[in-house]
Amino acid sequence: MTKLAVVGAGVGGLSAAIYLQAAGYQVDLFEKNSYIGGKMGRIDTGKYRFDVGPTIVMMPEIYRQVFSDSGVNPDNYFQMSRLNPFMDVYLAGKKDRPLSSDLVDITKTYEGVSSQDMAGFLTYLSDIYQRYDLAKEHFIARSFRSPWNFWNPKTLLQAFRLKTFSSSYQSLKKYLESEDLIKLLAFQTLYIGISPFNGPSIYNIIPMIELLYGVWYIQGGMYSYAQALERRFKELGGQIHLNTAIESVTFTNKNADGIMIAGVKHDYDVVVMNADFPYAMNHLIPDQAGVKPRRYQIEKINQMDYAISCMVIYLGLDRQYDHLNVHNLRMAEDFFKNIDELEKGILPDDPSFYAYYPSKVDGSMAPDGHSSLYILAPVPNLKDFDGWNEQQTKDFSQKVFSRLASELDLPDLLNHIDYQQIYTPDDFKSEFNSAYGATFGLKPTLLQSNYFRPHNKYPYAQKLYFAGASAHPGAGVPIVLTSGELAAKEVMRDLPLPAGKSRSLSE
Ligand SMILES: Cc1cc2nc3c(=O)[nH]c(=O)nc-3n(C[C@H](O)[C@H](O)[C@H](O)COP(=O)(O)OP(=O)(O)OC[C@H]3O[C@@H](n4cnc5c(N)ncnc54)[C@H](O)[C@@H]3O)c2cc1C
Repeated sequence: MTKLAVVGAGVGGLSAAIYLQAAGYQVDLFEKNSYIGGKMGRIDTGKYRFDVGPTIVMMPEIYRQVFSDSGVNPDNYFQMSRLNPFMDVYLAGKKDRPLSSDLVDITKTYEGVSSQDMAGFLTYLSDIYQRYDLAKEHFIARSFRSPWNFWNPKTLLQAFRLKTFSSSYQSLKKYLESEDLIKLLAFQTLYIGISPFNGPSIYNIIPMIELLYGVWYIQGGMYSYAQALERRFKELGGQIHLNTAIESVTFTNKNADGIMIAGVKHDYDVVVMNADFPYAMNHLIPDQAGVKPRRYQIEKINQMDYAISCMVIYLGLDRQYDHLNVHNLRMAEDFFKNIDELEKGILPDDPSFYAYYPSKVDGSMAPDGHSSLYILAPVPNLKDFDGWNEQQTKDFSQKVFSRLASELDLPDLLNHIDYQQIYTPDDFKSEFNSAYGATFGLKPTLLQSNYFRPHNKYPYAQKLYFAGASAHPGAGVPIVLTSGELAAKEVMRDLPLPAGKSRSLSE
């Protein structure tokens, strides 16, 4: 029987593993940590629960798809409900307007500023929707196997039609006059660790997706979705091996043929790599195998562009705060300076941050009368700033705490902290092997996107595939779920299907 190894039980690894196991192959999933989910993990103190990484659920249909594609009803695995208004925004030191995905509320917000801004907003929505439609069909939901998949007149024309050469911010300025309204549509590029001031304008699809498809909450927090993926994989007959770090991939004649665990080789017909691409290249794919071209040698990998990282503070509180929304965003007074500092490797004096308060809608995150609060502040990745220590962490978190107290109206917060844990980029690096602690992986610049991002099928060896945030199509849970699907479909194109299986899942 054909045996496949998937390395890493992050969202990308779980998604690929489900597609492959459902297609009838035997899949072994290896994870170095003691839990599945990767960054979609959970801190469980016994009293408080925290999602470690992702919290904002967008594109709910993609969350459902891996279940329906594998033949079951997603409703039997996890529960989602729509949040609206989905985020409270704090600008210039005080609460601004809530963000809503209801057209009547949106009209009130934009018309409240000016009818030109409302008209501009509708034009933005229509323009960006068309670009999204193009991007989805020609770039996101397909993998690039050979150069001809990209370097052909049709795809190049579509790339041109994406009009992605200006920055998100410049592009928004064409539609809107109000700086505050522009900010409300610009900050979302930070969800994938890229600046709105110099990231490609195609990422203006992120606020559009929030508005048109809504923002959702998964009951039990994000980790319950990772558990749902785990359950589906095991039901299909897949095997998960926790606490098992892979030391390297083995090759014979440029064909991946196994993995090394604790000095012992285990034979596999195919390896799907979910560990972060730059880390995998530098640590798991041996130079001697002759499968790394110059562009993937260690010094070139280290020269690649890495996304912005973050510090996350997890607080168990012995009280509740009714005025907080589930998602809350505080923007620095000078947002441009703040983002510029992040890109220059400076820890901001006046940090922007995002506060996630699931206890607002979910009693399972803390005991009665208590609550759990997660605060994420974007910070430089470790390539640009490598000076985290106890004092630095304390000083930076104090800056966040003082603004939480004064601007989010939590003056007594420090008196109610019952549990505290902080993750810096160093923790994201050591816990998940994320290169430079860049929580969103390789930065999605034009030269690291689409055809130029690491492919799902590795071009320089056979039987090796990649699924994950630093591979195609990119970071963010729905996009990484798609990466797992694309990698699995590339495997299915190359391997004979198991006896008795039809092609339907693989096409
Ligand atoms: C703080 C934070 C907030 C975020 N917020 C959002 C959000 O709100 N919405 C959203 O959609 N996305 C969000 N994201 C992004 C999203 O979480 C990621 O893009 C996605 O989870 C990445 O999945 P992955 O499978 O690529 O990687 P990972 O989750 O990193 O999985 C890779 C796995 O490989 C394992 N591994 C590594 N090396 C080895 C080895 N040698 N042997 C075995 N196993 C190995 C790791 O332990 C890990 O489990 C956030 C991320 C972070 C960190």
